[in-house]
Amino acid sequence: MGNPEKIRGVALRVAEAKRHGQPVVVVVSAMGDTTDELLGLARKVTPATCERELDMLLTAGERISMALLSMALRDHGIEAISFTGSQAGIITDENHTRARILEIRPTRVRQELEKGRVVIVAGFQGVSRAKEVTTLGRGGSDTTAVALAVALGDSSLGGVPRDGSLGRVPRGHAKCEIFTDVEGIFSADPGLVPKARRYRRLSTDLMLEMAVRGAQVMHPRSIEIARIAGMPLFVGHSVTGEGTMIEPAKETLESETPRAVAVTARRGLVRMTFSESEAAAVLDETAELNLPLHDCRRNGEDTAAGLSLVLDPAECRAFVEKYAGRVTARGLAGVSVIGRHFQQNARPLSRAFHALEQARIATLRLTTHPQSFTVWVSDADASGAVTVLHKALIENTAD
Ligand code: ASP
Ligand code: MG
Repeated sequence: MGNPEKIRGVALRVAEAKRHGQPVVVVVSAMGDTTDELLGLARKVTPATCERELDMLLTAGERISMALLSMALRDHGIEAISFTGSQAGIITDENHTRARILEIRPTRVRQELEKGRVVIVAGFQGVSRAKEVTTLGRGGSDTTAVALAVALGDSSLGGVPRDGSLGRVPRGHAKCEIFTDVEGIFSADPGLVPKARRYRRLSTDLMLEMAVRGAQVMHPRSIEIARIAGMPLFVGHSVTGEGTMIEPAKETLESETPRAVAVTARRGLVRMTFSESEAAAVLDETAELNLPLHDCRRNGEDTAAGLSLVLDPAECRAFVEKYAGRVTARGLAGVSVIGRHFQQNARPLSRAFHALEQARIATLRLTTHPQSFTVWVSDADASGAVTVLHKALIENTAD
């Protein structure tokens, strides 16, 4: 929804879907770079961060989109109404700038759908039980869309229940399509790797692994919700309609072919020398603040050896300031290869090391997981490592 013309394009697509007779709910994100511009504006006003007010500011981006889309739909003779996250019943915890959805009470959404209207919901935002406006973290509109589709799809639930458990969505009951500026899911960022393959179908499991490991295209929490609910998702280009179906696994259960290479955004590695109980307190704090923990390891073997954590850079800086003198930090980039059974078959790992060595890229750290492995390199080597690993493990593999 980058500009007025694109908004009219989206309105046309929605109008078509509506004319096919389906009830339609549209979750919108902010136009173009609006969210970044709002963040920039805040930084110009003050260097201090006030997370509550940031949420008030950033939710305006989606509010602009929802109102404009609603107006554009009326122009097509479609009755539409826009709602903020709060009006749509998206109830979250109280963690400003990274809130989690606790429950969805889509009463007003249902009422408007019953009147035959298209309902437009501002993505990326909700409201806490204390009636404070919250946001779900960058890229969070995907999560709003999937959670809302699940809540609306299963009418017996009347929303996501309080304990957050989700029922399985009955087949054909609701469908969720995410339209963006890429033609679906690729084996690597096509901007970086021109030979990246586009997948027409991908299992929810592998998509989740890609998203968690840093493929920017989808918010990881949205895929997690889709996986738990067993809901298929389509991710495609808003103009061409080309894209990828993400659905519960149909691929060969024991296939070992690497499927994708993803690069995480920059991460920081913090090494801390704490006793175990102190380390536990630090981890509790990380959990309370909903901070993503990308890796956690115990250093050495003696009792006061401490931990090393891989966190997002902002949190890393905060840790360094808070525990000055007791932690060290450095920048890292994680480049992950996604596939299956890497812990049972060392061949892809061996090929990765061979290729990285030939390209003179130093591996600073390695983590293996059941459905991926991550090579941690210096920031400067991140793009090079993606190209090298994609070539060695994906392009040169018969699929
Ligand atoms: N507008 C928000 C962001 O830029 C949410 C989203 O786009 O999904 O992060
Ligand atoms: Mg997005």
